Amino acid sequence: MSEFDLGKFEEETHERWTRAFESNPSDREKFYLTVAFPYPSGAMHVGHGRTYIVPDVIARFWRMRGRQVLFPMAFHVTGAPVVGISKRIARNDPKTIHLYRDLYKVPQDVLAEFTDPLTIVKHFAAEYQRVMTSCGLSIDWRRRFITVDPTYSKFVEWQWKHLYEAGHVIKGVHPVRYCTVDDNPVGDHDLLEGDRAEVIKFTLVMFHYGDAFIPTATLRPETIHGVTNLWANPNVTYVRALVDGKTWIISKEAAEKLVLQDHMVEVKEEIPGKDLVDKTVSHPLCGTVPILPADFVDPDMATGMVMSVPAHAPFDYIALRDLQQQGKYTQIKPVPLIKVEGYGEVPAQDAVERAGIHHQMDSRMDTLTQEIYSAEFSKGKLFAKYGGKPVRVARDEVAQEMCDKYHSVVMYEFDTRPVICRCGNKVKVKILHDQWFLKYSDPAWKKQVSDHLKDMALVPPEVRTEFDRTVGWLKDWACTRRVGLGTRFPWDPAQLIEPLSDSTVYMAYYTIAHKIREIDPKLLTPAVFDYIFLGKKFPDLPEKKKLDAMRKEFLYWYPYDYRFSAKDLISNHLTFQIFHHVAIFPKDKLPKGMVVFGMGLLNGAKMSSSKGNVFLLEDAVSEFGADTVRMFLTGSAEPWQDFDWRNELVLSTKKQIERFYSTAMEIKDAGGEPQDIDRWLISRLQEHIGKMTTALENFQTRQALQEASFGIETDLKWYRRRLPDGCSGSRELATLCSVWTRLLAPFIPFTAEHLWKEMGNKDLVSFAPWPVADEHLINTRIELAEELLARTVEDIESIQKLIQITPKSLTILLAPAWKHEIFETIARSSDRNTVIKEIMKDDQMKKRGREATDAAKQCTTLIHRLPPHIVKPLAEESVNERAVFDAAQAFLEKEFGVPVHIADAESSGHVKGATALPFKPAIVIE
Ligand SMILES: [Zn+2]
Repeated sequence: MSEFDLGKFEEETHERWTRAFESNPSDREKFYLTVAFPYPSGAMHVGHGRTYIVPDVIARFWRMRGRQVLFPMAFHVTGAPVVGISKRIARNDPKTIHLYRDLYKVPQDVLAEFTDPLTIVKHFAAEYQRVMTSCGLSIDWRRRFITVDPTYSKFVEWQWKHLYEAGHVIKGVHPVRYCTVDDNPVGDHDLLEGDRAEVIKFTLVMFHYGDAFIPTATLRPETIHGVTNLWANPNVTYVRALVDGKTWIISKEAAEKLVLQDHMVEVKEEIPGKDLVDKTVSHPLCGTVPILPADFVDPDMATGMVMSVPAHAPFDYIALRDLQQQGKYTQIKPVPLIKVEGYGEVPAQDAVERAGIHHQMDSRMDTLTQEIYSAEFSKGKLFAKYGGKPVRVARDEVAQEMCDKYHSVVMYEFDTRPVICRCGNKVKVKILHDQWFLKYSDPAWKKQVSDHLKDMALVPPEVRTEFDRTVGWLKDWACTRRVGLGTRFPWDPAQLIEPLSDSTVYMAYYTIAHKIREIDPKLLTPAVFDYIFLGKKFPDLPEKKKLDAMRKEFLYWYPYDYRFSAKDLISNHLTFQIFHHVAIFPKDKLPKGMVVFGMGLLNGAKMSSSKGNVFLLEDAVSEFGADTVRMFLTGSAEPWQDFDWRNELVLSTKKQIERFYSTAMEIKDAGGEPQDIDRWLISRLQEHIGKMTTALENFQTRQALQEASFGIETDLKWYRRRLPDGCSGSRELATLCSVWTRLLAPFIPFTAEHLWKEMGNKDLVSFAPWPVADEHLINTRIELAEELLARTVEDIESIQKLIQITPKSLTILLAPAWKHEIFETIARSSDRNTVIKEIMKDDQMKKRGREATDAAKQCTTLIHRLPPHIVKPLAEESVNERAVFDAAQAFLEKEFGVPVHIADAESSGHVKGATALPFKPAIVIE
């Protein structure tokens, strides 16, 4: 007998799979699925593994269902990160060297070549392909490309011509996240930290300080009337700087930021923060106020100076109270200016006292601040002496007035910090003038996207709100960069199209990727692509025959059926691709569905390459075997749930596969005559097939595995127990073995291929027909009978445990017919509250009195406990319990090793007989 050896199964199967998954248009119905392609700048970990393995299971499932399946893969190498990595390696940065040499295990001679960014992506693209293959991904590798291939760039140029002509590409002035080291705008993918940070527009309130201004940034300019003081950090070095010809006092950091925001800045001298403390400033709208010391003032937040409105800002209120408790500045009183329902005269004081907050570091401070901010904005009104207008109106008016009359300007800053670039530099806000944008803010474009989203299948359904929200808030997107790899921007060749903007319609490119490379890129004009993808006719198209073949591929495969990706891509890529599709392709070529994944944890903590908390996919495959990794990643959670990689659980998955393998090897050639119990086994099998098929149609990989693995395993255990002495199973077991192997093939294809061959099949199980449930083989009555028996055996076992005597005999007391009548009536009834009264109207039942009401109550409880799939058939017809137990008498005697008597509860005269119920006989152990 062939030993269980996953490594060996993998080796022999890889050979048999060579080119097996290359897929061409055929007369069969197609199923086209894609995964967000990887950016190969480091090694893959098991979290990435699931992103590709789940779609592979789905691909394999539909392939066996007879569909023509396309599962392609490519590599995304556009962008700046890899340029940064190559620079860091060139300057021997120890952290980077450690990551690549020790964690990703790049050999020293290869690492030396990593000073060229293209070498890095080519190396890892090859590695990715190798590891993906080792995991058994059934990919058509002929279609592989990288996003800097010249032919792909021609495709991207065509894509952008359409976006541009549709008015979706604009040039403008915009604040963007910017890295001054890379001299480039930064996208989410370029960030080590702060990818949730948004650029916020602040108003700078200009306080007079001698001949200078001290600007403070605020989102609530209307609260100027309530300013009681400014805050300066005595430990920070401020600077006196000439900003656009006027003198400002700001933090050093602010001076650097203002340069990026269209200001001429010339730093004159440094001023220690402590020199500002206790000086005064003035503003026409609040008069003269002092500068107070505050350690919490962050020089890296806006200007590094803060205006204090203790009546309406909890932080200011507490900071002032702390100083006053030390006996300082006790003359300062909060100055309220807004009336808001639900709060007292001084809202900040009211909120802080109600929440019982005693110090600034209380974690509830942010929430409290947000609450007051929202309440005042939505319901607040300024006091009459300040104009009496609602806050939401006054805010913009005061801001405008300040800009017109009181020297205020706008400053952009992040709402949360830090925001750190992959290069390690702090990201700042820069105003770009010659920046190109995709106009995602365009309401007409948004509407097209929303309309199409309604037609898309989204899995799980809960993600729909997140997509809707993203479409709603998306703003214009800086779509070009100065540094990195990628396609040149056609209207400004000094710039490159950034990574999230050149990877939105490549799913269409996959359909032709293997054929288009036969054509000289110079011939690939937009007209060529217009013909392939849009069917537009042009005279003199080159290579017409090849173009026709590509047009045929595109028409066959497109649109894609499902796209798979992790959920963190909803806010960018997954939504962007819909924007681009609706702008370019006709309605019948728009994406059909998306499946969104949860995240991967390692021993309970989030997996992260930069933090070193990862388990490499390749290591996992060599340690546990590809099938184990696949089964664990798809079986331990549904795809949209988070999964947690723990070695001990992975090991038990491996044992599970081993159990399946050895059982299959045992039963594959079984040939005995079928017994009664075989009808039960085959009936159950049809149900597993049906449930598993439905689960996989719904992408529920975990549910599917429960059915196919544990479900069938448990049945077989019972089956073997029920076989008569000297019988080891019938030829039905061989049928089951064939079905079982095919059901598990999408999950553990290496083991399944090996077994399939051992079973004498010449073809690959990967292309074998998916089992179909045969309704005629489902026998509910037999299943009910076995269920009754199994439950009774369980009851006997638990009673034995309880009483702990050595039994001499066992008596099973069966419920009388009238109890069955009661049971059925209750099970059929739609109103279980009134049904007992109904039953008791019957003369026979009335005669039984108390006995009948008790039985009815017990039956109701029992019916609640039994699963619906048992109650439903019992409502129609009860099981002939006498026949079931008579037939099983020998079995029970064998199981318990004592004589077994089966008797009618009422005629037996046994006191316990009164407790016998339908589907729950009374048990007497003596
Ligand atoms: Zn950077």
